[in-house]
Amino acid sequence: MKEALLYEKLPNHNVRCNLCAHHCVIPDGKLGVCRVRKNVDGVLYTLVHGRTISQNVDPVEKKPLYHFYPGSLAYSVATPGCNFRCQWCQNWEISQVPRERDLIAGSLAAPEQIVERALETGSRSIAYTYTEPTIFFEYAFDTARLAHQADLANIFVTNGYMTQEMLEIFHPYLDAANVDLKAFREKTYHRYVGAGLQPVLDNMKLMKKLGIWLEVTTLVIPDLNDDPDELRDAARFIAQELGPDIPWHISRFFPGYRLTDRPPTPIETLLKTREIGRAEGLHYIYLGNTVGESNTICPECGYVLIRRQGYWVVENQLLDSHCPVCGAHIAGTWRRSEEVDRDFFARGL
Ligand code: SF4
Repeated sequence: MKEALLYEKLPNHNVRCNLCAHHCVIPDGKLGVCRVRKNVDGVLYTLVHGRTISQNVDPVEKKPLYHFYPGSLAYSVATPGCNFRCQWCQNWEISQVPRERDLIAGSLAAPEQIVERALETGSRSIAYTYTEPTIFFEYAFDTARLAHQADLANIFVTNGYMTQEMLEIFHPYLDAANVDLKAFREKTYHRYVGAGLQPVLDNMKLMKKLGIWLEVTTLVIPDLNDDPDELRDAARFIAQELGPDIPWHISRFFPGYRLTDRPPTPIETLLKTREIGRAEGLHYIYLGNTVGESNTICPECGYVLIRRQGYWVVENQLLDSHCPVCGAHIAGTWRRSEEVDRDFFARGL
């Protein structure tokens, strides 16, 4: 166990954790909502520092990030646990295991080993993903600092429910984030996730202000968040508060975990959502968990800049961040040309 950062001591051996917007007040001997931070004799400990439950090499497109070193590899790491309880969680067997089975599973890997493996696999970045990286902040932070020394980028795939204090501390080492905007109604967050919406919105604005490259994902779920007015509000928020160049990934829902009482999202709903996003002025909208619709297209002239098959980039025509046809600037963090070969070698292509 390692002593946690970002907490305060309260009377009678209680502590308040200030890592995420739950701000759990934890009595002696108890755990926080995430079940991976424990108060022992008035000291808060993280139970997951150096304990990975998943390590994989993924295309960065799988995070999904489509405007951040496209075609590169992201060494992807998770520890058990989450501060949300999404009833449709696709990774519930690792995110909810501390809550469902009272178990901190996984194998040990020091931050140095994670960075080493990222370099060995030709990865361009390390992604803290699959479960919520906020709840393994100390581990991610130690790893991210080493990653920057090794010229690797750092990515959060997150529910965006961290405190602004955490974000301010982490941001010099955080290069990109995909924030899962699960709905655009407070009541939906409270009922299905066990958290609130407003901190997520505030954090996305702060990420933008801090210069972290941001993409947003919304899993569109029938009869839960697929009301056109709600989707319009979400698209309007992204376009107006974050900017029209922020990519919006609209993903297809499939029944799973505790949400099995409704069908997969009809493709028609995804297409309508894309129209809503376009009408609100968003330049880059991608459909996820379905085939096609993943190319990056110049918003000025319609030229196909990056062609993808599934998660793989098969053609990239961007010229120094610009469209080669009309010269429009394309927002994102683009790879340097010398990096292409390294990643292709890593994939054996
Ligand atoms: S990280 Fe969040 S959920 Fe976990 S103990 Fe801290 S405030 Fe509570």
